[in-house]
Amino acid sequence: MTIWLNGSLYDEDSARVSVFDHGLTVGDGVFETLKAVHGSPFALTRHLTRLAASARGLGLPAPDLDEVRRACAAVLDANPMPLGRLRITYTGGLAPLGSDREATDPTLVVALGPTTRRPDTTTAVTVPWTRNERGALAGLKSTSYAENVVALARAREHGATEALFANTADELCEGTGSNVFVVLDGELHTPPLASGCLAGITRALVVEWTGAHETTLPADALDRAEEIFLTSTLRDVQAVRAVDGRQLPTAPGPVTAKAARIFEERSAADIDP
Ligand code: PLP
Repeated sequence: MTIWLNGSLYDEDSARVSVFDHGLTVGDGVFETLKAVHGSPFALTRHLTRLAASARGLGLPAPDLDEVRRACAAVLDANPMPLGRLRITYTGGLAPLGSDREATDPTLVVALGPTTRRPDTTTAVTVPWTRNERGALAGLKSTSYAENVVALARAREHGATEALFANTADELCEGTGSNVFVVLDGELHTPPLASGCLAGITRALVVEWTGAHETTLPADALDRAEEIFLTSTLRDVQAVRAVDGRQLPTAPGPVTAKAARIFEERSAADIDP
């Protein structure tokens, strides 16, 4: 695989960043994961806008988005594949121990790997840890993902594939790598950004294209939901068939199936919506 690192293309075996990279030492970095269909990145403009917002939130220098676009194009060109997972990582860069982060140049890595479509249905568990909707990192796609790693490991211990967080007010928030939608009395809802969830790009498109309501929901809405689905770049719309061991009546139910169909049609028609 050919990788972009700070302005040049490298073979993946020779692309190297310093052991003093602030992204590695303290998780001072931001990232994006995009899907690329036959070399075309889906929703690239939205991903770049979110990358810039996350960088701003962390106090990193603004990324040069033209350079990031060029890097994505070069990596996609060098690694043709039918369905790819494009990862943009942008960190604080070299910060030798004891030095001031401001003095360093950021690190930009763009890499691509093959991927496959996720299954249409999945299972989830809730975890006892909370998302801090008032925390410094709320809503930022930072590389400090250890909390998600821990929660996902808990889900796997329970034989599930995603873990769902409530926030500190015991409101439904999001998954470790997904946003969550629930159907209550036939109506489709998703937690608002104020819940502390990531401004998921798939979430935004589903809200736009289906008219789903952004509603503050108690965490126990999961217990009474008629349908639940997750959204993310690599899942699109994925029905949840069981949460905390409770089987949902149908998965995908009618509202989920409709949302999945709308998403598939609209996203196939517009690669950068
Ligand atoms: N929430 C979290 C914590 C995520 O990491 C992700 C994506 O990886 C999402 C939500 C979904 O966002 P998107 O639809 O932009 O992939």
